[in-house]
Amino acid sequence: MVTKQYKQLGCLDVQPAGGCGFQVRAETEAELMQLVATHAKQCHQLESVPPEMAAMVKAAIKTVPVTVS
Ligand SMILES: [Zn+2]
Repeated sequence: MVTKQYKQLGCLDVQPAGGCGFQVRAETEAELMQLVATHAKQCHQLESVPPEMAAMVKAAIKTVPVTVS
């Protein structure tokens, strides 16, 4: 068992009024941003993440310990 530090982000962290319960975890910020971009496209009809939203997303990213076996 190993504890790793993961990046975590929820849609509610960026848009508290959005009502979207999507939450994502990834090992790196780059990976997380890619998952966020995919979600934004599929669920929020955003063809790409605008720079100001990317900045909000990065500011809202939390690092959480995750135990993996
Ligand atoms: Zn969402």
